[in-house]
Amino acid sequence: MTTPRMSAEQTRATLKALEQALAHHEEWALALHGALICRLEPDPRDLDPDAHHLCQFGQWYCRHGIAALEQHPGFIEIGVTHEQVHQNAARLLRQSLAGAPIPIADYRIFVAALKRFREDIAIIQHELEDALANLDPLTGTPNRAGMLSALREQKELVKRKVHPCCVAMLDLDHFKRVNDKYGHAVGDRVLIAIAQHVTAHLRPYDKIFRYGGEEFLVCLPDADLQVGYDIVDRLREQLAELPHTADGTETFHVTVSFGLALLDPDIPVEQSVDRADKALYAAKAGGRNRAVTWDASMKMLQA
Ligand code: GH3
Ligand code: MG
Ligand code: MG
Repeated sequence: MTTPRMSAEQTRATLKALEQALAHHEEWALALHGALICRLEPDPRDLDPDAHHLCQFGQWYCRHGIAALEQHPGFIEIGVTHEQVHQNAARLLRQSLAGAPIPIADYRIFVAALKRFREDIAIIQHELEDALANLDPLTGTPNRAGMLSALREQKELVKRKVHPCCVAMLDLDHFKRVNDKYGHAVGDRVLIAIAQHVTAHLRPYDKIFRYGGEEFLVCLPDADLQVGYDIVDRLREQLAELPHTADGTETFHVTVSFGLALLDPDIPVEQSVDRADKALYAAKAGGRNRAVTWDASMKMLQA
C-alpha cells in the first residue's frame, strides 16, 4: 500500500490522532456493552440512522480526519467499517429495547465488524510507524529501506499499463567544496534545505528517498520521460536559485544534476535506477547543473 508523503512531524501527529480516535471508540464500545448487558440507558445518538457521524470518532473522521490520508484506500475503508459497526450496534440496541433476547448471530456480526474496524486502524498505524522508522534523521526524507519496495510497486503498475513512471537520481554539484569552504554543519543545512524544497514541490504521490550521502532518488509515478524531464528540470532551476547562508552573512548557491530514466517493466528496478545513475554521470560529465535522460548509448559508454 502506498503511504502518502508526510513529514516526520505530520506522521507523528497523525499517529497521535488515530490513537485518540481509537481510544474514544473503545469508550463508546464499553458504554454500548453497558447498555446491552446491564440495560443502562442507551445514548439516543446510537439509535440514529446517522449514528456513525454522531459518535466522537465519527465526528473526528468526517469533519477533521487527516488531510494527507483522505485518498488513502485504508483510511477510506475505516469509514466503511465504522459505519457497519454502528449499523450493527443500532440493531442490537433496538432488539434490547424491545425486550427481546439478542440473537447470537446478530451479536457475532457486530463483534466481527468491531474487530475489522480495530484491525483497519491498526493496519494504518503500522504503516505509519514503519514509514517513521524509515525516515532519514538528517533530512526527514525516507531512506533507502523502503525505496526498492516502493519502486517494485510502481513497476507492477507500469507492467499493467496503469501508468508510466520515471525515476530520477539527484546529486548535489561540487558539494565537497561546500563542506570544505563553509564546514560540515553548513553542508548539512544545505542538504536539509534541498531535500525540503524538493519534497515541498513534488506532486502529492511523487516520492523522494535519500539514496546516500548527497544523492537522492525521486520516483515520479504517472510521468513519461517528457513529463518527468519537465518536473526535474523545473526543480533544478529552482534549486539553483535557492539561497543558502553560511554562518556569517554570506549567501551562496548550490546547483544539482539529475539523471532520469523510465521505470522499465521488463528489467529489475535496480537496473532502471542504474540507468538513472548513468544519466546522472552524463549530466556531471556534461558540465553539471543539468538534467539528462538515459538512452541506450550510455550503456555502451559505461559498460
Ligand atoms: P560532484 O559534482 O561530482 O558530485 O562533486 P561532489 O563534490 O558533490 O562529489 P564527491 O562525491 O566528491 O563529494 C560528495 C561530498 O558529499 C563529500 C561528502 O563529505 C559530502 N556528504 C555526503 N553526505 C553528507 C552529509 O550528510 N553531510 C555533509 N555535510 N556532507 C555530506
Ligand atoms: Mg555523489
Ligand atoms: Mg555531488
